[in-house]
Amino acid sequence: MTSTVVVLDADHPEGVLADPGVPLVRIDDQGLTRGDGVFETMRVVDGQVQGFATHHQRLEASARLAQLPAPSAERCRAAVRTALAHAAPGGDGGLGAEHSVKVVVSRGTPEGGPWSWVVVSPVPESTFRQRREGVAAVLLPRGHDPAHDSGYPWLLPGAKTLSYAINMAALRHARSLGAEEAVFTAAGRRVLEGATSSVVCARVRDGRRVLVTPEPSHGILPGTTQATIFGAARRDGWELGYGPLYPADLMAADAMWLVSSVRLAVPVHTLDQQPLPVDPELTRLVTGWLAAA
Ligand code: PLP
Repeated sequence: MTSTVVVLDADHPEGVLADPGVPLVRIDDQGLTRGDGVFETMRVVDGQVQGFATHHQRLEASARLAQLPAPSAERCRAAVRTALAHAAPGGDGGLGAEHSVKVVVSRGTPEGGPWSWVVVSPVPESTFRQRREGVAAVLLPRGHDPAHDSGYPWLLPGAKTLSYAINMAALRHARSLGAEEAVFTAAGRRVLEGATSSVVCARVRDGRRVLVTPEPSHGILPGTTQATIFGAARRDGWELGYGPLYPADLMAADAMWLVSSVRLAVPVHTLDQQPLPVDPELTRLVTGWLAAA
């Protein structure tokens, strides 16, 4: 196993290195039995965590919604440092040595209570391939129409929870249809987000350069990568739009990407078996914004 695990522990500020090959999670841990917990995934380049503060803020927001304690930024940073010091070499896709870092807060057992750990792994070649070659995606209805985030706090809107069984099932379904990625839609086919990514598309016409993403506060995870892209695009003079987006908008776009912290910007070259335009120059621009962030 090439992953490195560090358990956060009140008595050890730098965390405790654990053997990923031996059992660490109790059989009655509610993170395991109910998917009851929250997490963050971050990208590390040449040992530097990208956007740590933003990710930690979202971890705190997710934990607050789920009524879990989030480890402090200091403790998370220390545990990540410990894990990186013992990690296998990062993957090399041409942008430096890349690792992914996952910070997890689980509800734990009824007796033991919540606990946290960090896992560091080299970014796999499959991620670099997706960045280079793009992916085919399918649109899949999510089956309910998410209301504005403030309406139903028990649905944990905008929280990054461990409950990803539906997202993983959507990816398996996409694969059964010959695609690699799934994009969820709401009622009326309004576009929401990828199974593990945000949707961003570009229109470049008549001197206007516009980036559009679905409304962030309508039942989707507010993506840190999408926010970084939009920040850089604004500084570069692009217009920005926040949905609503429908399949016809994606089909008419000049480029569409699935974006997330570790994959960066992966072009979608086929949507529901229809070819989409791919613009390598635009992908380089967006990837450059992310690499410089
Ligand atoms: N939406 C979902 C459902 C995700 O799982 C992810 C990332 O894992 C994202 C969006 C993108 O989030 P970020 O850009 O912060 O990695």
